[in-house]
Amino acid sequence: MEILPGIHRIECPIATRYVAIYAIVGSASTLIIDTGFDGSIRETVIPYFKEKKLSLEAVKYAFNTHSDFDHTGGNKAVKEFMPNALICCGERDRAMIEDLQIMIDDRYGEFNHDHGFPDDPDTGAFVRAVAFETRIDIGFTGGERIDLGDRIVEVLHTPGHSWGHLSFLDEKTGAVIIGDAVLGDSVLHADGAPAFPPTYRFVEAYRASIRLLKGMNPTEVLTSHYPRYKGQDGIDFLDTSLAYTDLAERVALETITQAGGPITLAEIIEKCHDRLGPWENPAYTFLSYPLLGHLEVLEGYKKIKRGKNAQAIPTWSLA
Ligand SMILES: [Zn+2]
Repeated sequence: MEILPGIHRIECPIATRYVAIYAIVGSASTLIIDTGFDGSIRETVIPYFKEKKLSLEAVKYAFNTHSDFDHTGGNKAVKEFMPNALICCGERDRAMIEDLQIMIDDRYGEFNHDHGFPDDPDTGAFVRAVAFETRIDIGFTGGERIDLGDRIVEVLHTPGHSWGHLSFLDEKTGAVIIGDAVLGDSVLHADGAPAFPPTYRFVEAYRASIRLLKGMNPTEVLTSHYPRYKGQDGIDFLDTSLAYTDLAERVALETITQAGGPITLAEIIEKCHDRLGPWENPAYTFLSYPLLGHLEVLEGYKKIKRGKNAQAIPTWSLA
């Protein structure tokens, strides 16, 4: 639906969740933010454009906020249906977006390869069934201003969930469209129930991105997997997200303290997941992303130190 003048929010189903794709329509050209799965473009976005009589030819920019396949999987379909669209992303996410195998191995496989988590042999096949890559036409680094005719959209670099994550400030409305740059205290199902932990990975960058967005005093905070947050609700969402990082870091340190000896990431998660959210197994195992980020921060501050157990899996203990 058109939620603000010229800003359309198109919710595309992904199992029990959705990914919201946005279109910002200017007098000269249109920009879309995220491409969902291949089916999101074919089955939801294209019919929406037709129903609302929006021009597919006017789409000049199709952005991926970041290197996750539910945000990039429709890139090939965009090229098919939107003949003038340039595929754009954050430069630092380009390699993973252009090559799904790099995304599968380095983004989703990190915890299997390096931390002894059980390998899920279906991940690669699932990604490849719903996502189709293309070359990226333009890599952005943040600070660029895109003129759509009667409105300017500013590109913001908001790392944390990924290194190249991009967000967007629509100057006409003061809304920010932030993809997964900020993730509250849980990612949600479509009905609002908690789905899995906030999967930020690079903690200090994530905190800085939240503060950057808050400093813009946005009129609305528009995300991929959460409802519309208007006015103070948007600020509250940002504050909740920042507070969660402090909780997670404290819980990580306390868990290591109580363990009294070297402990792996998977063991830390087993001991503390119920303090960090209501998720069941295996959803709570996605705490691997934020908790590894926090372990790196605590290591950097020399509060904990890294070792290796007999299986060569990294462990942490008090420094
Ligand atoms: Zn997402």
